[in-house]
Amino acid sequence: MAKFDETPIVKDPAVNGVLSAPKLREHASAEVRCHPSKPKDTAAIDLPTERVPDWQERAVAKLGELLEKNKALRVYMDICVRCGACTDKCPFFLGTGDPQNFPVARAELMRKVYRRYFTPAGLFPDLGEAADFDEEMLQKWYTYFYQCSECRRCSVFCPYGIDTAEITIAAREIMASIGVATKYVTEVVAKVYSTGNNLGIPPAGWKDNCEFLESDVKEETGLSVRFPVDEKGAEVLLVPPSADNFANTDTMIGYGKLFHFLGVSWTTSTYCNEAGNFGLFLNFANLKKVNRRILDAARDLGVKTIIWGECGHAWRAGIYTPTLNGPMDDFEPPYPYHISQYIVDMLHKGAFEGHIDKSANDEYLVTYHDPCQSARAGYLIEEPREIIRAVCNRFVEMPDGTIRQKTFCCGAGNGLLTDEIMPIRMAGGKPRAMAVKHTGANYLATVCAICKAQLPESMHYWDVPVKVGGVIDLLARAIKM
Ligand code: SF4
Ligand code: SF4
Repeated sequence: MAKFDETPIVKDPAVNGVLSAPKLREHASAEVRCHPSKPKDTAAIDLPTERVPDWQERAVAKLGELLEKNKALRVYMDICVRCGACTDKCPFFLGTGDPQNFPVARAELMRKVYRRYFTPAGLFPDLGEAADFDEEMLQKWYTYFYQCSECRRCSVFCPYGIDTAEITIAAREIMASIGVATKYVTEVVAKVYSTGNNLGIPPAGWKDNCEFLESDVKEETGLSVRFPVDEKGAEVLLVPPSADNFANTDTMIGYGKLFHFLGVSWTTSTYCNEAGNFGLFLNFANLKKVNRRILDAARDLGVKTIIWGECGHAWRAGIYTPTLNGPMDDFEPPYPYHISQYIVDMLHKGAFEGHIDKSANDEYLVTYHDPCQSARAGYLIEEPREIIRAVCNRFVEMPDGTIRQKTFCCGAGNGLLTDEIMPIRMAGGKPRAMAVKHTGANYLATVCAICKAQLPESMHYWDVPVKVGGVIDLLARAIKM
């Protein structure tokens, strides 16, 4: 029994695992909103602690600044022809039926403000094409730009390539600049600066858990697999999502077993034991600052290679690293490197030859969920599948149109993984749940910590009996040490 108001959720079933557009339900999700930020968190991350007095002027000026800096944003403001091709592509529209969750309608919230202050249409407000950035508009921005997971699915179907996620990113940046942000996102970013990770785990707690995993693996397998911390001169710095060390421990164990098997020295860092970058969900300054910590930690420890763990938005932020934080020429490879790419490279080198027992995963019929940020934004599509095929006998794809570039959001990406908007999470997670159900799989593999937190809840809600886990978890089960 759900413990939240299910009214915003469309319950119509899928056909062959695919949802069709629901009947329109005006304002269905208008009342579902994230809790606002707290001054202690915004102060810690260099944002106003409350809404600034001249917020309207400041917001319009910020929009003008972004239009100048980001030419794509200005193009996206101008070129939409309202063809409607994107309308039924958004998981949050499919799950709520609220037409304000049409990507084009979401973006129109910004376009109206753009036209009002930056185009001649602003001289003719009665035509309805332009609107003031007033209290009512700000409230709509806050509601609906936080009902978008910046998943970019709509952009795949737009004949003009309009990326509504970029519009959401700009809207959140503008709101943050005037002191309007969510508690969840700001709290997480503040924790990164105070503890090194999104969960707020202090260094001693991180080390304790690594030692616990060492004894756990020893007890279970007899192997002395290490989970090293702050080891200077290690070959590899692994930057996992911190949730892997506490919630997705099979994934963390997977990293340990992999490096143990390969005989590669590795470490995590208590300065930066977080790949996840919530700055991406908030504003550019924090995106850059959070990402910078990875390079600082790697240089401080003197590692040769940085490997990003299984986390979707971490990877999206990660691939920007040379642009955000400067060249990576002192690392090998001199560009961001994902754990799935690393494993595939090892597979191609024959490192696992004769050491994989695929039958170890025979209890599972595996399907794969492409996280939006690693697949659509980060080009990691075939690598996870190649690993799964190498270590499992039984793999099934979800229906075409729901995977690879056209994957559906788990329902809680990019700052939506917070309980007060549970109806939105369950609604947005519905297309993915329906596609998984269609396969009959009993293991849902993915490479994202947010997906691994959301999917068990959405699968349970939509009555899909499936275990959710990492890709490396499956590899670790199959490696013969
Ligand atoms: S598909 Fe593109 S052009 Fe068409 S309505 Fe959507 S955003 Fe506008
Ligand atoms: S980016 Fe994703 S969540 Fe946002 S409007 Fe497009 S399809 Fe919907």
